[in-house]
Formats: sequence, C-alpha cells, structure tokens
Amino acid sequence: MWQLTDEEKRTKLIGLRDEILQCTKCSARIDARRPVPWQINDINSPVIFHGRNPGYTEDMEGKPFVGAGGRVLNKHLTRNVIARKWVNIGNLICCYTRNDRMPLWSEVRVCFPFIVRYLQVLQPRLIVLMGTLTIEAYTNEEEVRLTYGKLMKHKRGFHMVSCPHPGSVLYNKGKRLGNFVAAFDFCCQQARLVLENKL
Ligand code: SF4
Repeated sequence: MWQLTDEEKRTKLIGLRDEILQCTKCSARIDARRPVPWQINDINSPVIFHGRNPGYTEDMEGKPFVGAGGRVLNKHLTRNVIARKWVNIGNLICCYTRNDRMPLWSEVRVCFPFIVRYLQVLQPRLIVLMGTLTIEAYTNEEEVRLTYGKLMKHKRGFHMVSCPHPGSVLYNKGKRLGNFVAAFDFCCQQARLVLENKL
C-alpha cells in the first residue's frame, strides 16, 4: 500500500468528513439529525475500535461513542490500560436509526465505501469489531460468538478481533456482562500488542 504523509492523511480525512456530513445517500439519514463521522484521535494509530452506528446521544452531539455505550467502552478501555486517544473509533454506518433499530444491509452497503476510504487512509493493523452486525460485515460469520477470543485476518491484510457491542451490557449485567468482559479483554490484549509493535 502506498504510504501517505501525515499531511496527505489529514487532507483526505478532512475531505471524507465533509463528504459524510453532507451525505443523504441512504434511508438511515431520514431519522438522523446529521451523519456522524468517525472519531480520528491519532492519524497514525494502528488500531480502530469499530461499532455499529450512532445512538441518540451521538446523533445529538455529532461524535461516536459519547453516550451510555461510549461510557461502557471508556470504562473497559481504562480498565485495560488503553487510552481512548491512542485509538480511532468508527461505525459501520454514520447515521442514527430511530429507536436504535438495526441498520439494514442496504444501508450498510451504501455507507461502506466511506469505511473503505477511512481504512485506505488509516491503514490499521487491528480492528476491534464490536457487535453482531459489524462482525458479520467484516467476517461473513453468522455465528458471531465463535469469533470471540480469536485473532482473525482480513484479506486486506489487517487483523481483527471481536466482542459484543458495549451497549449490549447496559440492561443485562449478568452473564452478558461476563461474556462482554472476557471478549473485550482479549481484544484489548491484542490491541496493546499492536500499539506496542509486538503484533
Ligand atoms: S448512513 Fe452513511 S450512506 Fe447513509 S446517509 Fe448516513 S452517511 Fe450517508
């Protein structure tokens, strides 16, 4: 892959952000106040934490993972000694869907070219896939639980690990929380290895 300079990365990311903010290409846009671009904390970070789509708070604030699910993400990143500013945060589609309905595959397909462009600029070495739909989109795996605790490789060359969506544990703190913590901790172990250039 062609190596971009930091200046080229910044220029492409600004252009991409502007395009996303003006996008009305799919049905998800109907319920959204605005599309929510990815949160790029470090243009040279090799790690992306990748969710599904913005929720109500994210739609209001225009940033990904700033609501209740974001607080779960932050709490468990901190517990795993990973600063959020060291990684980038993305979503499968950039628009809020009313009542947090699952995005349609037709919406994912229309938004995916934006993701491809983020990946071309950021060139991650590890993507943490959070939530069923995101895992399915990258792995074609229907039994997503089988992907937890596994280090997978995408045909584009980057590694992938997976876990339930952080928002999924908000209202069920029993077994679901235990499953989330085990899978998320594995993801963070791999993320730390990549951040420390050991993977
Ligand atoms: S979800 Fe993506 S493709 Fe659909 S309107 Fe929003 S930004 Fe555009």
